[in-house]
Amino acid sequence: MLQIDPVRRLAILGSTGSVGVQALDVASRFPDRFEVVGLAAGRNARLVLEQVRRHRPRLVAVADPAGARAVREAAPQGVEVLEGEAGVSALAAHPEVDFVVAAISGGAGLRSTAAAIEAGKPVGLANKESLVLAGEVLMARAAARGVAILPVDSEHSAIHQALAGHNRAEVRRLILTASGGPLREVPAAELPAVTPERALRHPNWSMGDKITIDSATLMNKGLEVIEARWLFGVEPSRIDIVVHPESIVHSMVEYIDGSVVAQLGVSDMRGPISYAMGHPGRLPLDLSPLDLVRRGRLTFESPDPERFPAFTLAYRALELGGTSPAVLSGADEAAVAAFLAGRCRFTEIAEICAEVLETHSPEPLRSVEQALSASEHGRREAERRVARAAQRPRPA
Ligand code: NDP
Repeated sequence: MLQIDPVRRLAILGSTGSVGVQALDVASRFPDRFEVVGLAAGRNARLVLEQVRRHRPRLVAVADPAGARAVREAAPQGVEVLEGEAGVSALAAHPEVDFVVAAISGGAGLRSTAAAIEAGKPVGLANKESLVLAGEVLMARAAARGVAILPVDSEHSAIHQALAGHNRAEVRRLILTASGGPLREVPAAELPAVTPERALRHPNWSMGDKITIDSATLMNKGLEVIEARWLFGVEPSRIDIVVHPESIVHSMVEYIDGSVVAQLGVSDMRGPISYAMGHPGRLPLDLSPLDLVRRGRLTFESPDPERFPAFTLAYRALELGGTSPAVLSGADEAAVAAFLAGRCRFTEIAEICAEVLETHSPEPLRSVEQALSASEHGRREAERRVARAAQRPRPA
């Protein structure tokens, strides 16, 4: 008998961001499969209102109170506008929502991801910081509640696909691919003088500023190692990174017989977004097809820990355990913001993160709130170091 999939009622958290906008694009291509019932954003009232008019959600949450007021005043009748972080979490847990796309950036996304899981909603997870800060706790809660967490990060989506139909006990290692970012070929001597504008010029992906800078330092790949560790339950010693500048092989799984299963595709986030939103089925997405003959050559190299030490800090944070990954994540958020504001050098991002990580005394992680306060501690410690570094005389 023909089975008709029910309409999935979506809440898109971070709808005004790079992933959020693309998730809305995917949803709007399949009106018989998705209904957008909720949108949540930080402060961009103008774009939220545009999205409300176009997608007609019944619920909107805006974290910034002034932004929430602006949306409330201009939203069509019948749209309920929630406010603040509590409003975003309430939206994630709302009874009318079947599926949550968690695409807020940074640690700010953790509480709403946790709220969705507690409410038993399947989550399409882009907000990697949720797992970096509190992966151990969230995955345990998801297992207890029987909630599916479907990765949106292209690497983890690739691994999810490469694991499907296989025996997890037969996995030897996960291989995360990295584009190498916009500074892959820049010599060490030039890195301290790299400007935000240059570091934001990603060759393959168009993403939000924070993740683009993380991609340039390779911290992003480190955060993805932490994400993979919790998402797939694989120890860090069995998670490797390979730089693959073409971003065609999105990641791989090696099995105990030496066979490697890879997932390939064009560099378009709507691929992994639609995989998560449509799971367990696939959506007939009309992205430009992958033309391997035209690509001609795919290359692979090792990441360089001398020029880009940030990824090694993630392994170190996992080794230290407990609250350490949350501290690293908070420190990175603060250091990246300082770099973007011209308050620290590119190379100081990793230096500051390393110092904050090594001076922290980790505690076993027990709750989301504890993870958030550890991240906040990391952020404050990094800010203190940024301020101190700014006072030192600098070479021209
Ligand atoms: P963007 O910076 O483009 O967007 C961030 C979104 O989060 C915006 O909608 C912003 O709202 C919202 N937001 C920020 N703070 C808050 C808050 N306190 N409460 C509610 N909403 C908030 O980020 P990206 O889309 O690039 O990334 C989102 C997440 O997905 C990140 O964790 C990133 O690592 C991950 N990711 C992104 C990829 C990409 O291709 N972009 C790829 C893989 C993973 P507003 O603008 O209205 O303030």
